Amino acid sequence: METKSYKEYLKNITTFVFDIDGVLTNAQVLVTNEGELLRSMSVKDGFVMKFALDKGYNMCIITGGNNQGAKKRLEDLGISDIFMKRHQKLDTFLEYQQSKGLKTEEILYMGDDILDIPPMKHSGLATCPQDAAPEVKAVANYISHLKGGEGCVRDVITQVLKVRGDWEF
Ligand SMILES: [Mg+2]
Repeated sequence: METKSYKEYLKNITTFVFDIDGVLTNAQVLVTNEGELLRSMSVKDGFVMKFALDKGYNMCIITGGNNQGAKKRLEDLGISDIFMKRHQKLDTFLEYQQSKGLKTEEILYMGDDILDIPPMKHSGLATCPQDAAPEVKAVANYISHLKGGEGCVRDVITQVLKVRGDWEF
């Protein structure tokens, strides 16, 4: 795989699997006096996620966290496959793949930290944000020029949709 450009894998992708923290959000949490943790997500990512869903792409979220606000935001975009508090991400990834009957080469994964490395190695196209951990960047087929929470999700989705003729803009 290392010898090919990642672009050759875009045309096979029907399914996107994303981590939340550091991918759909930036790598920061704002801690309030009450101990609440606030995150920010890109509305530009959200728009394109919904657009891809409407085009028939599969969208799956696997996170080690349990942030209900982020979950509600993603549900509101129309995503139903959201798996929270999953620290063995590969197990969840393989269960999801099997439940949907997906081939490995159909699945693009984007993660930013160590827990994402096992599913990245089992996906057809392993991607990460610009500010991912160095160990993650080392196994990624594609490193976005954009950071977590700042459009990296939109970057990979639009690349796939353009190659597959689903981006009419
Ligand atoms: Mg993360």
